[in-house]
Amino acid sequence: MNISTSLNVLYKENTPVDDAIIRCRRAGFEALDFNYWDFQKYVLGLSWKEEEAWAQHAREVADREGAKFTQMHGPVHGQSYANMVFGLNEDSFLDLAIRSVRTAAILGLPWIVFHATKVSPDLESVKVRLSHNTQFYRKLFPVMEETGVGIALENLVDKEQTTAGVPRRNYCSEPEELIELIDTLNHPLVGACWDTGHANRQGLDQNVIQQLGKRLKALHINDNNGFQDQHLLPYQGTVNWKAVMDSLAAIGYEGDFTYEAHRSIRMLPEGLKDTGLKFSAELATYLVNTIA
Ligand SMILES: [Zn+2]
Repeated sequence: MNISTSLNVLYKENTPVDDAIIRCRRAGFEALDFNYWDFQKYVLGLSWKEEEAWAQHAREVADREGAKFTQMHGPVHGQSYANMVFGLNEDSFLDLAIRSVRTAAILGLPWIVFHATKVSPDLESVKVRLSHNTQFYRKLFPVMEETGVGIALENLVDKEQTTAGVPRRNYCSEPEELIELIDTLNHPLVGACWDTGHANRQGLDQNVIQQLGKRLKALHINDNNGFQDQHLLPYQGTVNWKAVMDSLAAIGYEGDFTYEAHRSIRMLPEGLKDTGLKFSAELATYLVNTIA
């Protein structure tokens, strides 16, 4: 299992992606997660030609450094299909998702992580959500088949409270919903991404990874206190790491061990970030070795 990190550990606006690629590779990460979502606003201001050149440049830097892009956090809708970020609607979001698949192909990476979402802010039925998300993601099949790039749908979290104090039901926070959506899409280029932090906030036992089995293609490894999406490194929160690692071993997981743990590094002063990255790479290697 290769160790990997999202480039967003070093992301801040105007930081060239080159710098993040070089520093993560030199800290010991063999594989990298391209954080398209963090660049979503930037990408929306680019023509396809400009985006293509941007992706080709990132690929060249990674190749030169001996790093390999193996997953991407794809574009994110926002609260629901009816209420999207950056003024997007379902049509323009689909265009962006298609572009992200083409960019992933240039970067040479096999899996893009996407979120399923609610249809509207209302509490509609799971059946309505399943049907809407199935129809939406099926529209990506032609470009996925053309490029060979797959999508990994991520487990989300419910525990945001409405003003009335009523728990807000999100979609695909429970593994059964995620599995039902993946199995309904029923395509070899559709799998799952397990976010250990979301599962911890959802109050799930990490052993439920075993229910995903061979559907699991990507990981968002991060820790938290069980209440906030803190995106910390393993052992800095309350995630049961033995259960995570044993479950990955039990299902014969073949993907990478990929961090989405940016807050542990971003909070450090500039002069300590590379040391922090090296420590995080050592920690990933330690965990991977517990099941090697
Ligand atoms: Zn995640």
